[in-house]
Amino acid sequence: MALTSPFPRIDGELWAGERRVTELVAEFGSPLYVYDAGVIEAAYRRIEAAFSGVDLLIAYSVKANSNLEILRRLKALGAGADIVSLGELHRCLAAGISANDMVFAGVGKTEEEMEAALDAGILAFNVESAEELQVLGRVATRLGKPAPIALRVNPDIVADTPHEYTRTGHGATKFGIPVDQVLDLYRSAADHPMLEIRGIDVHIGSQIMEPAPYEKALDQVLRLAAEARAEGIDLDFLDLGGGYGVGYDEEDGMSVEDLAAIVVPRVAETGMRLILEPGRFIVGEAGILVTEVLYVKRSGSKTFVIMDGGMTDLIRPSHYQGFHRIEPVVSRDEAAHEIVDVVGPICETGDFLARDRSLQMPAHGDLLAVHTVGAYGFVMASNYNSRRKPAEIVVDGAEVVLARRRESLDDLLLGETL
Ligand SMILES: *Cc1c(COP(=O)(O)O)cnc(C)c1O
Repeated sequence: MALTSPFPRIDGELWAGERRVTELVAEFGSPLYVYDAGVIEAAYRRIEAAFSGVDLLIAYSVKANSNLEILRRLKALGAGADIVSLGELHRCLAAGISANDMVFAGVGKTEEEMEAALDAGILAFNVESAEELQVLGRVATRLGKPAPIALRVNPDIVADTPHEYTRTGHGATKFGIPVDQVLDLYRSAADHPMLEIRGIDVHIGSQIMEPAPYEKALDQVLRLAAEARAEGIDLDFLDLGGGYGVGYDEEDGMSVEDLAAIVVPRVAETGMRLILEPGRFIVGEAGILVTEVLYVKRSGSKTFVIMDGGMTDLIRPSHYQGFHRIEPVVSRDEAAHEIVDVVGPICETGDFLARDRSLQMPAHGDLLAVHTVGAYGFVMASNYNSRRKPAEIVVDGAEVVLARRRESLDDLLLGETL
């Protein structure tokens, strides 16, 4: 069968790959994260094809979805990784990704993290402050291992992202080094016997829909790279970060082809390798969260659809006011649309998946699918209210892999003493 859109509806029922979602839930329970491996591969290949005109490393941004099965599959496609913690390094190494294909970002790297990444043979640390550079130089000296570095530039660009928490490229955020300090820091790195300058880096935010802010950021890093080069400081790579937006309401995501048309010729001209750090674009549309209706409650002017999944499973609606399309797994064509709040069972008023949403009125026992949760979904799940984190499965055509089993009650007690 030809399945074009992720999670198509066939005869009134939602499918994942070549499997009925209802059957997957019967086997693996609810709530359940379902990922379609074909959708992940298609997004990866799209970026690869768009940027084929330049020496490219796609360093998948692991924080978007760090499930080992997904990391393993991305590694098989040729991906490296953009990591932000020792835990992510550990996961990536376990999934078989070579440290030499990893860049290490983050404003607060500890000495423990620096040591581990140096030992593993990381491609580069994307350094975010003068003080971090000093500490990294000390750690490298102590270990007798030169530290490969890039400087993360804060280009002071306000990218138009849907929420202020996902803007990282303007001067008032904690990220990156102010443009006017970058060259001085390159000079001091060049003077340090145990720091090896490898590249330049910028990441302006997340869920960006237009290439324009990237073009501005690119202008800045290319100018800085040329100035560094003029002083004899050579840079092997330019890391343009991630942030390419996806369609949360069936609209098109960012055109990586349009972005590539701007970026590829200008980077190719410099001879530098290009590193991209896409996270959401690769996995976002590949995931749904399936959750079951427990109760429908009418209260004054409001109708609440109370689900077995909530903010502990998916926090984007309450944390970022994120919109996620929600639809019944099995259509109820006889049911009228009503305006409802789709809420979870957690003891917080902020526990909702959607507010004031028009939905075919579901009933006790129905399944709803929350779309576009492949990125920043499960990875932000918590055990608040002593809830067990849901299972994650990966569907590949007709095959299904239990990528992470549902947590057990004993998992909740792990590490505690009595
Ligand atoms: C989060 C992050 C990314 C990925 O962002 P997406 O919006 O998921 O593509 C890339 N690079 C850095 C440094 C990040 O912090």
